[in-house]
Amino acid sequence: GRFSPDFASEQQEDHAARSGEYDANYETLRSLGRGAFGFVKLASKRDNGTLVVVKFICKATVIPEHWVKHEVMGLVPLEICVLAELSHPNVVQLLEAYENVHYFQLVMEKHGDGIDLFTFIEGGPTLDEPLISYMFRQVVAALSYLHELKILHRDVKDENIILDHQFHLKLIDFGSAAYMREGHLFNTFCGTLEYCSPEVLLGNSYAGPELEMWSLGVTLYTLVFGENPFFDVEEIIAGHLKPPCLVSPGLMKTQLRLLHPDPKSRATLPDLQADSWVNQPVDINNYSFSSVVKGGVKAEQQSDDQLSKLSDNFRRQNLFPRSFT
Ligand code: ADP
Ligand code: MG
Ligand code: MG
Repeated sequence: GRFSPDFASEQQEDHAARSGEYDANYETLRSLGRGAFGFVKLASKRDNGTLVVVKFICKATVIPEHWVKHEVMGLVPLEICVLAELSHPNVVQLLEAYENVHYFQLVMEKHGDGIDLFTFIEGGPTLDEPLISYMFRQVVAALSYLHELKILHRDVKDENIILDHQFHLKLIDFGSAAYMREGHLFNTFCGTLEYCSPEVLLGNSYAGPELEMWSLGVTLYTLVFGENPFFDVEEIIAGHLKPPCLVSPGLMKTQLRLLHPDPKSRATLPDLQADSWVNQPVDINNYSFSSVVKGGVKAEQQSDDQLSKLSDNFRRQNLFPRSFT
């Protein structure tokens, strides 16, 4: 296991993470995911059996810049503060937040059966363009809502999007989020390398929305082609796309506008809201989840061991806040 060195075993860490008021109210069940900053588990409310998803955030891993003072909750990671403010059909809903000496416990709604878009794509789903557009426009809706509230997510990627069997998508993981301020430019990036835009990698300070649009472009590419457009910094900066198959001109145009090397020429959220490919007609009742994934995705049957193997081999690491200058 990859438990923190402060704990002798993963069991000890699990116990430290759940103890306290949270544990009095919820029974903690199986693991759903584990990242550098904590882990995510399924839990059930003790008094009524409601299933929820809980993210355990280890206080020791929250960087100094990410602590903020909340009116009601006191000193909390920005991630909790941001999520507490949000309510949108395409953003995961925070239900409650608890803390003990070492951890915060973020109790979120359970959406679908706990699979994210990364796992979905790994299963090799059969997707046509209307269905992809239907999924993609929901991420656009989530980001439009956030940007209106002057919030940047800064870690848009397949792993941070969950979906249910009706192809209803929700954005999760606000651990890299930040508030935008008029005229303020950011100098650091703590999202995911493979989803970072070329100008940010080259060390330019950035306003935010244009970085987010690039990440959205990488996410779209991954959904369409089942593979990353770029695998390292050199490839991102070179910016050559080598799609493995042909797609419609409308999709290719949208794709190229999102992965435009010049941030000023890159598509914006209003561009996407007016885009005919993004908003093409689709009857979602024509699609059944089981025939799209053909048994490829079975989150419920994955053991913790398989999950951690997946994360070691394929999942991508968040960068610690860094500036590329
Ligand atoms: P990290 O900041 O460590 O990346 P995330 O918030 O992204 O943590 O959660 C890690 C993983 O746990 C996600 O990629 C996803 O697979 C799963 N996960 C997180 N929240 C939920 C949720 N509400 N429902 C289902 N799965 C979730
Ligand atoms: Mg994540
Ligand atoms: Mg995160």
